Amino acid sequence: MKFQIITIFPDIFASYFGESILKRAQEKKVIDFKIHNLRDWTSDNHRTVDDAPYGGGAGMLMKIEPLYKALKDINKKSTKIKPTKRKIILLSASGKKWNQKLAQKYSKLEEVVFVCGRYEGVDARIKKFIDEEISIGEYVLTGGELPAMVMIDSITRLLPGVLGNKNSVIEESHSEEGLAEYPQYTRPEIFITDKKKYSVPKILLSGDHRKIEEWRKKQQKKIK
Ligand code: SAM
Repeated sequence: MKFQIITIFPDIFASYFGESILKRAQEKKVIDFKIHNLRDWTSDNHRTVDDAPYGGGAGMLMKIEPLYKALKDINKKSTKIKPTKRKIILLSASGKKWNQKLAQKYSKLEEVVFVCGRYEGVDARIKKFIDEEISIGEYVLTGGELPAMVMIDSITRLLPGVLGNKNSVIEESHSEEGLAEYPQYTRPEIFITDKKKYSVPKILLSGDHRKIEEWRKKQQKKIK
């Protein structure tokens, strides 16, 4: 799967993508990233990507022309991908809420292009050139880069060959809608602090896998 990201802060991504599961997924060639600096599609000396909103109001908006040109160039290079296997996303605080079900749906695509907003957002005409607006939660962040990373991370974990144990994604929270993972414990068996003892539930030490599975099923919570 290929992820293409349009941003005015291209250096933000290297650290997160260069570690752990995302790094290994790239090494295994399961995923590939291309980070595009939006300023490469500007034509003035200051490489301007923002301007004041018509009608007045707080802050600046991202201009439509550089974004349009960037998308046009990126789209030109992806013509071999079926339109049904590709999505262009605008990260937006007011978009459709991202969740595990959407991550599962997106994990079947071949390419996702992310438009990361900054300032007070993007000229609304961008909506004519994207497929979906996505929000990662009901709060406002400074830019679309973190949301793009959140989406990429949650999609990548679901791709075959990325996680060491394929059961990990089956038993995780949200793998079934509204369900949280059962509680898990590791060594030590008894953790003592301030004269209090915190023990691992006995059933998990029993070696009886059928009973452990039953116990885990009962422990799974409904997420409100
Ligand atoms: N004025 C905008 C509003 O009221 O919705 C907020 C703009 S925000 C400061 C700048 C950019 O951050 C947005 O254009 C969007 O790309 C991104 N962003 C902020 N919060 C987000 C969220 N919860 N989910 C996805 N993207 C978000």
